[in-house]
Amino acid sequence: MTSEELKIKLAQLVDYAKDNLSLRLEDASFATNALLDLFSLNAPAVNAEKYGDFQTEIVDPIVEYAIQNGLTKKEESLLFETKLLGIVTPAPSSIVDRFDILAANNGIKSATDWLFKLSMANNYIRMVDIKKNIKWSHRGKFGELEITINLSKPEKDPKQIAMAKLLPKSGYPACMLCPENVGFAGNLNHPARQTLRIIPIRLGGESWSIQYSPYQYYDEHIIALSNEHRPMHVDGDTLFRLLDFVDAFPHYFIGSNAALPIVGGSILTHDHYQGGSKVLPMFKAGERKKYSVGKFKNVNVYVVDWYNSVVRVCGKNKFEVHEVATDALCAWSEWSDESVNIICKTDEQHNAVTPIARKEGSEYIVDLILRNNRTDEAHPYGIFHPEESLHNIKKEGIGIIEVMGLFILPGRLKNELEEIKEYLTGKKNLDLKELNNPENPMCKHAQTILQLVNDNGSGRDKSFADKVVTDYVNDACERILECTAVFKNDEQGQKAFENFMLKGLGAVEA
Ligand SMILES: [Zn+2]
Repeated sequence: MTSEELKIKLAQLVDYAKDNLSLRLEDASFATNALLDLFSLNAPAVNAEKYGDFQTEIVDPIVEYAIQNGLTKKEESLLFETKLLGIVTPAPSSIVDRFDILAANNGIKSATDWLFKLSMANNYIRMVDIKKNIKWSHRGKFGELEITINLSKPEKDPKQIAMAKLLPKSGYPACMLCPENVGFAGNLNHPARQTLRIIPIRLGGESWSIQYSPYQYYDEHIIALSNEHRPMHVDGDTLFRLLDFVDAFPHYFIGSNAALPIVGGSILTHDHYQGGSKVLPMFKAGERKKYSVGKFKNVNVYVVDWYNSVVRVCGKNKFEVHEVATDALCAWSEWSDESVNIICKTDEQHNAVTPIARKEGSEYIVDLILRNNRTDEAHPYGIFHPEESLHNIKKEGIGIIEVMGLFILPGRLKNELEEIKEYLTGKKNLDLKELNNPENPMCKHAQTILQLVNDNGSGRDKSFADKVVTDYVNDACERILECTAVFKNDEQGQKAFENFMLKGLGAVEA
């Protein structure tokens, strides 16, 4: 591309930003001049025709030009793309003002709709990557599970990994969730965030912010983060902040990961919540048993008819719901029942809660998913963690999104599942020596392959193999959820659950 053609692309980028990123006319020359400076050009294009596809006809050719002309390296092209799009995204304060005006004039939903669209339109949420995910749903015993093979995180190539290792660690920003990420240039160890815009909010009297998740595991996947870099913690104040959030954003649910390793999420160092507009499978689960508590006659407590152990607290009075949910949280943190292998603490705390709040009309609903992260000799990964025979599907901790029935499976499975099918179609022959070789990435699937071939034979047609493997993954996801249940869905487990509700929480059957 010549520099004259580049000038046209840059002018089109500014036009795009005016149309899609709320770039104001007063800021257009300012952005144009910053772009000219970035590319050492002395004047903009005089006439630019109407732009075409944002990614393939504007962004990709500009980034390609930058690589060709030594402004960036191929390995760092995503960093450069983010810098480029940061220039045409309005300043953080202007985004906050616009959000507040929309919320005041047209309601909070129109403000979040606008911010969500903007976060996609400037590639902060890279939809080109997210569209690569493979998704399906499965009607299971307790609801419709949703399963995603996550292909949206771009895999780092060996050259990038080698370059990243050489970078000095500055410790700034302290983590990926700190508010100081806004505008950060990034490097191969830390994503560029010039396109990130966050909105300040108040929760429980504290300063927090919201932003959309760049990964978008479900509809309008939003993150609320404490403005202070402090560890995850779940207590009564957390529940109050969640209820404050659903008051401010009644069209979104919000929940916190449990604050302990194994049962928590991947980031325990920065207090944050996850929410969104998605109706997650667990929300649709009905109630197995109804209870009431003496304190408040208008608050109902339920055991949810779901794979793992969920206490649901519902009522129209926020303070009453908060008090009962806090009582349940405190009761669980102290509850042990050795008949079902629950020990709340040894020399450290093991019982924890994954709380999720939402609103239906004027009713507040708080779901408390009871968790425990204890390990023992027989279960080195966790007693209530997926058993080892399921680690070929998922070995990582089962966090808030998955315990509610939406699975994010690792991207490696795309190719690995195709290879399992080849044993069923006979394209590949069972060679136990090769399969059990620890160097072979398929080694972790050896037992699964043997079992599936034993049950279904080989030399089957492709569509049959597809079905067998999908059924296998669906079943594995259901079993993973069952592993996370502290009270199993059998007679003994449910009796122990009942015992907790009556004696631990002091509820009575309604
Ligand atoms: Zn942080």
